[in-house]
Amino acid sequence: MSDIIEPIPAFLRELLQKEYGEEASRIIAGYRRRPVTLRANPLKGTAEEVAQALGGMGLGYERMAWYRDAFLLCGASAGMLSRSAPYAEGKIYLQSLSSMLPPLLLAPKAGENILDMTAAPGGKTTQLAALSGGGALITACEKDKIRFERMKFNLLRQGAVRVNAMQTDALRLSDFLRFDKILLDAPCSGSGTLTGDSAVISPKLVENCARTQRMLLSKGLKLLKKGGILLYSTCSVLKEENEETVKFALSLGASLLPLSPPTTDLCLLPGMEGTLTVCPDGKFEGFFLAMLQK
Ligand code: SAM
Repeated sequence: MSDIIEPIPAFLRELLQKEYGEEASRIIAGYRRRPVTLRANPLKGTAEEVAQALGGMGLGYERMAWYRDAFLLCGASAGMLSRSAPYAEGKIYLQSLSSMLPPLLLAPKAGENILDMTAAPGGKTTQLAALSGGGALITACEKDKIRFERMKFNLLRQGAVRVNAMQTDALRLSDFLRFDKILLDAPCSGSGTLTGDSAVISPKLVENCARTQRMLLSKGLKLLKKGGILLYSTCSVLKEENEETVKFALSLGASLLPLSPPTTDLCLLPGMEGTLTVCPDGKFEGFFLAMLQK
């Protein structure tokens, strides 16, 4: 079976060409199946224990120099891992490498009051909890009931005990709340990570996502303490959902804190200075990251 995802919707191909010119072919070539990756969960065990367990299962892996908890599996399937003991014990969480970046860049600390605005199924919430040694006070908000239940299950299994999970629309959170840090891993078109069923992506979807992203971003900025930090991320590479949304936040008075790539493993696409647009490739899915300060 080929690793390349086909077919790519014609409108997306044209939009990528319009926005990225020659670079579009690099993005399109990056729409492929990637090896399974996972994160060791230090709330339940060490990365070394996970390495041993994977070795014991006869699985080869690669460690990531930029994140000691990240593993890239060689020739393993997600199904194989999800039937394993470390998975059942919450010692590992299957997560794409790109989606490990937002919590790493937000760098949560014990005692900080953090809001994860659109949190299910909880991959980044549990990573925020782990990175803070379980010491950050995290509010995780998700509006979809089924996804919320899945997140609660994941939080429990991953030992993320200081998380206040709320099944609500983040737009309805009280404007009197204030947070030190906010993660807005926004709902998006998924244009950075096409999979076989991505034919659903359409101009209307992109437009609707961009509208929702602006509303969520505007709300997030309200809920941030003065001087607080909001990390905005999407798994899209489209400007309307990324740079244009960031420009909207800047028009509301936020400032951009320039991000540096956490690793030279990332292939970056040209974009607004200080933001990062990860080009999809054999290891990373397409992703966008921007850090804003109130
Ligand atoms: N951060 C998650 C993770 O790492 O596991 C993935 C989040 S996914 C990109 C976006 C989520 O936002 C979806 O679960 C969607 O149901 C939720 N969502 C969309 N609009 C929302 C809103 N207004 N309030 C809360 N959640 C929302």
